[in-house]
Amino acid sequence: MIIFNQVNKWYGNYQALTGVSAEIKSGEVVVVCGPSGSGKSTLIRTVNRLEPIEQGEILFDGVNIHGSSMRLNHLRQRIGFVFQNFNLFPHVSVLENIMMSPIKVLGVKKSEARQQAGELLERVGMSHRADAYPAQLSGGQQQRVAIARALAMKPPVMLFDEPTSALDPEMVGEVLNVMRGLAQEGMTMMCVTHEMNFAREVADTIWFMDQGQILEKSTPQQFFSSPTNARAKRFITDLA
Ligand code: ATP
Ligand code: MG
Repeated sequence: MIIFNQVNKWYGNYQALTGVSAEIKSGEVVVVCGPSGSGKSTLIRTVNRLEPIEQGEILFDGVNIHGSSMRLNHLRQRIGFVFQNFNLFPHVSVLENIMMSPIKVLGVKKSEARQQAGELLERVGMSHRADAYPAQLSGGQQQRVAIARALAMKPPVMLFDEPTSALDPEMVGEVLNVMRGLAQEGMTMMCVTHEMNFAREVADTIWFMDQGQILEKSTPQQFFSSPTNARAKRFITDLA
């Protein structure tokens, strides 16, 4: 579904991605881990064109994501993105946050958008706060609304960049549960996270990154029991 082909990216003189080749299959859950500064955010941001690449290509269902034939609007409709910091629209209610893009971008009727938003809120356990404003919610609640908002566009792929790392510990679980549910429903997902229990239980494949390269791609079982790469081994040992 998504193919990275020899991707190289620089910030000025600094090479942030080096020879990244990888594939995410339909329905696959990929967890990307690795030390700070290893290029995880950079990599995930190239997928919905928040960051350009200088060499190589990234294909989405065979179409070059960074090519001129891929319209940005189309791409962003098809690939949902959840950031570390929620990014909800502050001046409208939770329900309106979710209704807005389907109405504006997809031309969905208001009544239909409202019904769909209600269903999504139910799914993320937030129906009771439909009329609240984002600032009136906890971080974990805001993040669940952010996931519902992304899902409202019915994207076949969801990207998550450390969705729980800005949350108080007691709220991490509720967000991970929503993500786990999505994975169980067969959503194609690429998740950058330090939550290694989530990686162990939910990932089909773990990519370990260091210095802009993917050094290891393996199943959670392989990765946690016998990583082949020395730096991955050290990373896991340091977690314990
Ligand atoms: P973390 O776990 O801390 O989020 P990360 O693996 O997501 O780290 P990136 O944010 O992708 O790492 O950064 C990779 C490298 O690229 C780092 O050395 C970072 O300083 C550098 N970098 C990231 N964004 C920019 C930018 N906009 N301009 C210049 N350098 C950048
Ligand atoms: Mg990052």
